[in-house]
Amino acid sequence: MRSIVVGGQVIEAPQKEDCGDKKCPFHGNVTVHGQLIVGRVISDKMQRTVVVAREGTKRVPKYKRYMRVTYKIHAHNPPCVNAHVGDIVLLGETRKLAKTVNYVVLKIIKKAEEGAQ
Ligand SMILES: [Zn+2]
Repeated sequence: MRSIVVGGQVIEAPQKEDCGDKKCPFHGNVTVHGQLIVGRVISDKMQRTVVVAREGTKRVPKYKRYMRVTYKIHAHNPPCVNAHVGDIVLLGETRKLAKTVNYVVLKIIKKAEEGAQ
């Protein structure tokens, strides 16, 4: 089992057994560096990839105000983490794993409530 340290936080591997995924931050050969992001999973339809929504603000110069925006981030979802729609997850920045994927799900902070979907 391997645990990883990012930004002073220690994240334990979710399971001891190798999940067989090369793009897993715990059992594969990707390393996490850079940004950490917390977001909510909005789609888990792709194989081993989830779409995570992140809330942010954008400045609108004309009105000198901020507008709320939602950014979509594609993140790799290793089998040992296995996040689903509605889960609040922690993402770590990695190397580019696919055309639009350069984040990986490190852990599920809060599970989606049962039947809330
Ligand atoms: Zn794994």
